[in-house]
Amino acid sequence: MQYHSTRDSRVTVTAARAITMGISSEGGLFVPEYFPKLSLDEIVALQKASYAERATAVLAKYLTDFTTEEISSCAEAAYSRQHFRARQPAPLRRLDANAFLLELWHGPTCAFKDMALQILPHLMRLSAAKTANGKEIVILVATSGDTGKAALEGFKDAPHTRILVFYPENGVSPMQKRQMVTQEGRNVGVCAIRGNFDDAQTGVKKIFADREIQDELAAHNMMFSSANSINWGRLVPQIVYYVSAYCDLLSNGVIRAGDPINVAVPTGNFGNILAAFYALKMGLPIKTLICASNRNCVLTDFFQTGTYDCNREFYTTSSPSMDILISSNLERLLYELSGRDDWGIGKLMHSLASTGKYTVSPAIKESLDEYFVGGTCDEKQTMATIREVYDTQKILCDTHTAVAVSVYRDYRAQTGDATPTVIASTANPYKFASGVLRALRVDDAGLDEFEKTERLEAVTGETIPAPLAGLRSKSPRFTQVCDIGSMRSTVLSTLGIGR
Ligand SMILES: *Cc1c(COP(=O)(O)O)cnc(C)c1O
Repeated sequence: MQYHSTRDSRVTVTAARAITMGISSEGGLFVPEYFPKLSLDEIVALQKASYAERATAVLAKYLTDFTTEEISSCAEAAYSRQHFRARQPAPLRRLDANAFLLELWHGPTCAFKDMALQILPHLMRLSAAKTANGKEIVILVATSGDTGKAALEGFKDAPHTRILVFYPENGVSPMQKRQMVTQEGRNVGVCAIRGNFDDAQTGVKKIFADREIQDELAAHNMMFSSANSINWGRLVPQIVYYVSAYCDLLSNGVIRAGDPINVAVPTGNFGNILAAFYALKMGLPIKTLICASNRNCVLTDFFQTGTYDCNREFYTTSSPSMDILISSNLERLLYELSGRDDWGIGKLMHSLASTGKYTVSPAIKESLDEYFVGGTCDEKQTMATIREVYDTQKILCDTHTAVAVSVYRDYRAQTGDATPTVIASTANPYKFASGVLRALRVDDAGLDEFEKTERLEAVTGETIPAPLAGLRSKSPRFTQVCDIGSMRSTVLSTLGIGR
């Protein structure tokens, strides 16, 4: 299987090359040349398989320049009990008669990014060995909070790899910040920027497209790659947990083979829900994809009107990992839905860069309507949902998961659609303790981040995850803050190669 760029279909690379490069040189994203099929028989057979075995089965269909043994060793290393503290890496928990939470936060950083970022370093090491001729890989990350920590944790002390993370100074939760600035490892760097996530992401993409800095790296036997969901190696492991959830619903007798399910996802950069769409394209019986946004509802408006318009106010909310106006992975979806019209996609993305908006063709809009519905949940509804779910079910949702639960419930009420629904639960509630305490109407005035987690534990009896509790005794290592305009020089000076 080969990979093409969304902005130039003539670009053709192997999976290993797509993973080491991260993004195509003309700015497009790598996409598989076709969607391999997963038959119902295969899905049924995977019921008895472990998560690592399910991952191997799915990944082997895409990473055809890797041997099955290679993929299996990556998956077994990534999805072990050492890294995921639950009975399996992505367990389902019943929310109500029709809906199930797919808990994706049992990994080392307590957010769903671990599902991909625990395996990506292994895939990156093999990919580099196949294609990078001994170059040192420099991973640049822009984060709205969770990717940064998960990438640092995944890549820390990985051989022949350096990693540098940029996060918005005032755009991440105190716990997220604490997780990043205390990161251990010899090959890691973390820098705050004066700007929001979109600024960080745009800055990183600019550096990837900068020939001069690439030459500078090449002269030092280094090359850039990405651990954001623009990297194919980040996306493909995310397909696995939707397949895994379907297998578990089969095992539990909730559905029979071939029955449709719906999937609801709290969305930011559109990576997680895109992986569900890819699972659907492979043949997983998914009927409707419910795209949930917080107050930054650019996607909801897009699904309604066909116009993507980020000329609007940016809000900082209690679900910071969804505070995004430019959802990068939408480009991959539009590429598929336009019949792989690379030229057309290039035009839309050019329009986005120059005017901040674009409108898709009626044909694409029709196709969107076939698969997706969008919905929004404001701060008040987020809080009410956390409280209501806790009061009635004794399930503690984080602020992001609550957005998806709320939008799912609206959808259910409006349509009456009783299809079993998998709701992506994307973070452990302790990662966003202030928001959750506020929702439960517990006074947390004057408490620091750790005292808040203790208060939450005292109120709910749910244990604080060890990786978060352990942060308290660690002192900050990274205090640097830079302007958006100096991200480039920060990269060079961190690598010790600039003039
Ligand atoms: C990253 C993240 C999201 C958004 O996921 P995308 O793939 O960017 O759409 C939602 N919730 C949490 C907790 C996250 O960390």
